[in-house]
This record gives sequence, C-alpha cells and structure tokens, in this order.
Amino acid sequence: MPQKMLLSRYGRWKEGRNAMYRKNAWEQYDEKELARLNAFAEKYKAYLDAGKTERECVTEAVRQAKEAGFADLDEVIRSGGKLHAGDRVYRNWMGKDIMLFVVGEKPLQEGMNILGAHIDSPRIDVKQNPLYEEEGIAYLDTHYYGGIKKYQWVAIPLALHGVICKKDGTTVTVAIGEKDEDPVFYISDLLVHLAADQMQLTAGKVIEGEALNLIVGGQPLAGEEKDAVKANVLKLLKDCCGVEEEDFLSAELEIVPAGRARDVGFDRSMIVGYGHDDRVCAYPSMAAVLDFEGTPEYTLCAVLTDKEEIGSVGATGMQADYFENTVSELYDAVHGYCALGVKRALQNSRMLSSDVSAGFDPNFAGVFEKKNAALMGHGVCFNKFTGRGGKGGSSDANAEYIAQIRAIMDEGGVDWQTSELGKVDVGGGGTIAYVCAKYGMNVIDCGIAVLSMHAPWELISKADLYEGYKCYCAFLKNAKPF
Ligand code: MN
Ligand code: MN
Repeated sequence: MPQKMLLSRYGRWKEGRNAMYRKNAWEQYDEKELARLNAFAEKYKAYLDAGKTERECVTEAVRQAKEAGFADLDEVIRSGGKLHAGDRVYRNWMGKDIMLFVVGEKPLQEGMNILGAHIDSPRIDVKQNPLYEEEGIAYLDTHYYGGIKKYQWVAIPLALHGVICKKDGTTVTVAIGEKDEDPVFYISDLLVHLAADQMQLTAGKVIEGEALNLIVGGQPLAGEEKDAVKANVLKLLKDCCGVEEEDFLSAELEIVPAGRARDVGFDRSMIVGYGHDDRVCAYPSMAAVLDFEGTPEYTLCAVLTDKEEIGSVGATGMQADYFENTVSELYDAVHGYCALGVKRALQNSRMLSSDVSAGFDPNFAGVFEKKNAALMGHGVCFNKFTGRGGKGGSSDANAEYIAQIRAIMDEGGVDWQTSELGKVDVGGGGTIAYVCAKYGMNVIDCGIAVLSMHAPWELISKADLYEGYKCYCAFLKNAKPF
C-alpha cells in the first residue's frame, strides 16, 4: 500500500481527490463500499415507491422514525414532558412536512446542524370540480403544479394519489395505478398523422394547460341516458369508497407517473424515478438523522418541507412559521421557553439546504459551463448561490462557511463538487435556502445532480446519492458554530 494513501472511514482512497478537478466517484469504491452503496440505493428506491406525494413521504417518514425510536414531539408537548441530550423526536406538520431532531449535548443557543430538503414534486393536480364526459369518455379536469413541460405528461400511464375528505370528518386515501393489477389513467396527445399544425408550435404551446384532461372511464352505466359514462364512474366511486361527486370539492388528488423506480444501464449505475426532485435529497437527509448513533454534540435536525415547487408558500411551505414554531417547542421541552434563546438557536445554526442540481447533459451541452456544472457520478454538489440573472433571488453562502464545509467533506472522505445551474443568463431557479438564511444562520445549497429535472421520469446516479448520504452524515457530526 503506497504510504501516502489514507484509507478513509468509508474505505476509500483520499489521496489525489480535489473537488476543483473532480474525479469520477465510482473509481474509488472497493467491493465493500459498492455493497453499501447498492444497499442504500435499494432503500432509496423503496422510499420513492412508497412516497409519490408529500403526504405519502411524510407517512413513510413517520413510520421509519417510529421504527428508529423517535418520539412524537406533539405527545411530549401534550404531556408536558422534558427532553434531554440524546432524545430523538419527530414532528409531523399537517401531514405534509416532517422534522426530525436528535437533541445534542450543547445548549440549543449554540445552534443546530440542520438538513433541509423538499418532498413536493412537480405533478398534475385534479381541479375541485373535475368530472365531466365528452363523446363517451369521462375525464378529470386538472391544474398542473410546479414547472413542467406539459408535453411530457401525455401518452404515458398515470397514477392517482391523494385524499378525499368528507363532510363527516372521514378521509378516503387514494393510491390507484401502482400495483400490477391496478388500472392506470391517461392523457391523450394528438396523433402525428394529423399534427401538421401542432408540430409547428413552440414546445410551450404543443400541449396547453387546459388540454391536460385525464381519461378516467369509457363505459356507460346501463339504463342511464345522459352522461352515462360519468354516471358509471360516480357509481364505482360510491360503491368502492362511499365518495359522492361533491366530495371532489374537498379532495387533494395528484396525478403522477405510474410505476416504480428502476435501475438504468447495463451496469445498473443509475436510477430513473418520479420525484428525485427533491426526494433524492430528502431521503438521505432523513436517513442521516435516523441512522445517527449516540448523542450528538450539537442538536441535529432534518426538515422535509412541502410547496417548494410553487415558491415555499402556504401553511406547509418553508416560508410559513411551522419550523420556527417547532424549534420553539423543542426549546421549551429542552431548556424552558425563551424567545431570545430560540432566536439564537436559529441564528447560530448551520444548514445544508439540499435540492437537486442540473446534471451536465452532453445532449444539451450548450446550456452549461462545463467546469462549473454538476457532473453525473462525480459526487454531491454544492451551490454557493442559485437564482437567475445576476444571482437574483439567491441565498449566497458565506465563504467562511464554505471553507468549513470543505474541511468537513474532505475529512469525511466525501466526493463533492461545486456547480451552478447552467450558463450565466441561460435560466435559473430557487430553493428554500433564502428562507432559512433570513434567521442569519449559515446556509449553503447542496444536492444531487439530476438529468431531465421536472420530467415525469428523472435520472440520478447511485454514486451521487451515496455521496450525498455520506455528506449529510459528515455534516451532522462535524459542523460547528463560528
Ligand atoms: Mn427542487
Ligand atoms: Mn424543482
């Protein structure tokens, strides 16, 4: 063994690794580490299959948190209980956000090590008055959610997930289109034979928002004369779950691609799945907190949030006060409430705001600046800033903080790279970083490279997923206040 080479705790050679001249992460894995990587990828795929909506992601997170011995913070609050170093709690906010904490030895005023990511993904939502029939076909009318290329969502099998809340206070949970024996749903495209005019349109006009009408039935109800196909759909809904047409008024139904996450490539090195943005960051963030053993020096937190794709708005978006309120509750249970203490806890925290990066795509190389682009399979990405135009709307991480991050990553044997979202002025995007940065905490955008971001099926590298998990574990353990 060459003397200069150091075996990291992950069993990987550190010598010659330099985030500025990125190397392919795959080159460094030995058999043991490849086994760990693949085992983690399997768990991630199972999480993607279990969580196709923000609600399902929270349900699955609560299940895993309980299994890992985390207590419900709301129970602690109700019972007036106290929390101590080493205690593990979660909080479920409206079934759409989840926060996980491991209480540290140091007082909360010294800040927390926080991992943040979002669990909502671009999709098509069902309208409140959706069901209609035309020429023997029953449809649900829709309104898409987040930034999508609408033409990508037609002519593919689709599934319906969500909840229908009834006036009597009960809720019907819906997930149709995932099991082999389930039916799926479908949005039609124009046949190419008659598409001479359509093919001249720009991509944004090829499929209009109001053309995203979901086919849900085609068989008339016997004996019915008017809208008999719609009547048959309503009868089926009534028979299976007691749902009336009016119940759509208080439903949240999300249309997502039907099917499971799959390995990609002869070498199975990648994963195609729905909602990598941003569950590919949310899952390893959650796993890093759940897997943490013992008592941390500083309190650890993972916050998985909703509504990022539409601006982090609403009661479950990062701009709402739910996170601050939860930290206040935690503070109360650990130290006794103190407004200034909570402010200090937030201000002195360190955060990785994790969201997907645009992976360099050789098919569309022109929109990237290669040496500042996220390369697939080259490790977890850090973005000093996001935004559009001259960094508009971005949270720009402090250089001092990045220096600390560099030390933590290199020490932890993590393969990482820095990246920007494409060439200057080509486009842009935002994350939740600026929302948390307003407390004064140190935040940097971090995440995993994706190809075809916001498409029904997105692509990631298993190596990047694994390096993301290693990155989060190293950060939770070693990030410190300034
Ligand atoms: Mn995202
Ligand atoms: Mn997104």
